[in-house]
Amino acid sequence: MIVRTVLGDIDPADLGPCDAHEHLFLDTPAQPGDGFLDLDKSIAEAQTLVRAGARALVDWTPLGLGRDVDSLATVARQTGLHVVAATGLHRDVHYAGDSRYRAESIDARAERFIADLRERCGIIKAGAGYHHLTPFEDETLEAAAAAHAATGAPVCVHTEHGTMGLALVERLSGLGVAPGSVVLAHLDRNPDAGEHSETAASGAWLQLDGPGRTKYWPDSTILRLIAELAERGYASQLLVGGDTGRASMMRAYGGGPGLDYVFARFKPRLERELGTDLSEQIFVANPARAFAFEPR
Ligand SMILES: [Zn+2]
Repeated sequence: MIVRTVLGDIDPADLGPCDAHEHLFLDTPAQPGDGFLDLDKSIAEAQTLVRAGARALVDWTPLGLGRDVDSLATVARQTGLHVVAATGLHRDVHYAGDSRYRAESIDARAERFIADLRERCGIIKAGAGYHHLTPFEDETLEAAAAAHAATGAPVCVHTEHGTMGLALVERLSGLGVAPGSVVLAHLDRNPDAGEHSETAASGAWLQLDGPGRTKYWPDSTILRLIAELAERGYASQLLVGGDTGRASMMRAYGGGPGLDYVFARFKPRLERELGTDLSEQIFVANPARAFAFEPR
């Protein structure tokens, strides 16, 4: 098993404390004026994350939204972070009507994903809408499943407000992707431990990545969800990230709380309130399994 980083494959045991969902570069028509593509600023942000104790970061920015593997490699070299890059596509609203990706067949998309994964990308991103999939999103799931079959890389899905978790696992299962190779992001936007436990029973990974979004919900909501999911027996399927996906969330761009918030503030609080063993599991042991694969 390996984790494929932008600087080459590593032993999963060497991944270290990992922020399971970030963006070092992102620009999308869905968030006008909030893009961030400045290499020096991204390096500065990434350095704060390293100082807060992270050794690895999974970058979920997909094709067409500012993903730049060369720049990610530069950040990795400058900071020492293990950076896992994404191929794949986001949900529908992030692409203009005339986007080249919309015009591509499922096969062409899959070939594009596979070529990326054979190079320096380590995850396949897909995206779902709020309680539904558009044709573009469903086709991307099909292409993602084909790319998974060809490479073994995990399929990492944006959920909208945490909806459709089990439905996405079922759809991907139908396309031949085992639940253990599926990571569902943003589930804490619907902090319902009962619902997510049913999804977890399939074997899929549950990712909670909304710390620091204080105007929407307090961090205590996420901590309670983690505690409840752990009590129900799913601690070994939990991942946590910061998902700092806007310039206005980055200190280097004059915003906050910063890329390091999840490690500098949330993780220490998790350790105080829920214990260091659970933290070690969530930030070290689980990412080393979730993002590892046997290359095909
Ligand atoms: Zn994200």
